[in-house]
Amino acid sequence: MSEHPHMARLEDVARFAERLPDGYLMCRTWAHAWDQARSTVRRSDGRVSWTVECSTCGTVRTRVMTTGGEIVANRYTYPEGYQSDGIGRIGQSGLALIRMESLRRLNGA
Ligand SMILES: [Zn+2]
Repeated sequence: MSEHPHMARLEDVARFAERLPDGYLMCRTWAHAWDQARSTVRRSDGRVSWTVECSTCGTVRTRVMTTGGEIVANRYTYPEGYQSDGIGRIGQSGLALIRMESLRRLNGA
């Protein structure tokens, strides 16, 4: 990926938003719902890998820490179809569009 990815066109964002399941839209609008019951901890080589999973969409977030809790790395593993691969970076108006798609579905409109 280039250092300055192009901005996504609004019609591409609209098409992407229409395909997203309701739960994915909620996560994109309100952030993920991290479930402590789906948390794992693994220790090796002086590092602690702590993962949590979103109960809504299944995204897994991993924090790699020192044994003292300093964060060394942070990564996300997204479920299939969650990411907007290839359409470009979604800007403020694209995010507004996704928000409105989520709201429209909640209203059953
Ligand atoms: Zn989520």
